[in-house]
Amino acid sequence: MKLTFLGTGAADWDINAYEPGKEFRRFSAAIVNSDLLIDPGPHIFHFAECAGRPGMFDGVRDIIVTHTHGDHFCPATVEKLCLNGPRSTLWGDKACLRKLERALGPEKAAQIDFRETAVNPDEPYRVGNYVIRPLRSNHATDDRAETTRLYVIEEPETRRLLYYGCDSAWIPTESWNVIKTLPLNAMVLEDTCGELATDDWRIFEHNTIEMLELMLRMFRKYGCFAPDVRYYTSHMARTLHTDHQRLKEKLAPLGVTPAYDGMTITI
Ligand SMILES: [Zn+2]
Ligand SMILES: [Zn+2]
Repeated sequence: MKLTFLGTGAADWDINAYEPGKEFRRFSAAIVNSDLLIDPGPHIFHFAECAGRPGMFDGVRDIIVTHTHGDHFCPATVEKLCLNGPRSTLWGDKACLRKLERALGPEKAAQIDFRETAVNPDEPYRVGNYVIRPLRSNHATDDRAETTRLYVIEEPETRRLLYYGCDSAWIPTESWNVIKTLPLNAMVLEDTCGELATDDWRIFEHNTIEMLELMLRMFRKYGCFAPDVRYYTSHMARTLHTDHQRLKEKLAPLGVTPAYDGMTITI
């Protein structure tokens, strides 16, 4: 299973400030192999264009949504993929549909193949070539009925397991109780708050490096997950981090690799 990071930034990055060759992060999104998109964010087509791969989403059959914050869920992107392009199926909380109805109108929204899914760890569901377990994240949007999610994505053919956790502070207990039983092969943890974030207010909805340190020490102490598990970070805030190289050095002792836009990992 391959995962390509289409964006690795938090919501404070400005796409208008993009300059080719200069360090930059788009809003967080990723694609599994070439058919499963995680988060239909507003910057994914910018990535495809800059990467010289304008057709990279033609094979997207399914889209799963972590939550409906604007940096992760963009109605125009959904319209492009689900109505005008490959006619992908959209899976997520009903909040997605509410947002689409507001942005595109009820008629257009009704034409989208939307499948409402619930956070129920006992009932993983099949999406194309994958088995998906949505788990509750510690995060919230303005839509108070929305259950925001972390995802465990399994590729049954290879029996490889990926955890994708943007956005969430820590991992809620009910989700951890599921995650700890799984032989994960890769974990993408969010790291919104970097070394410039001292005593930052975002700690109730996002991770800091100190929180990652605590989690990783515990994962290792108890030998959690598969023996070959690898750890990555994404969703880095522009204003709370220095540069990528510095972050790489900072996370190296923890055995964590920060992702960058365009990075592909094989799980
Ligand atoms: Zn976000
Ligand atoms: Zn968010």
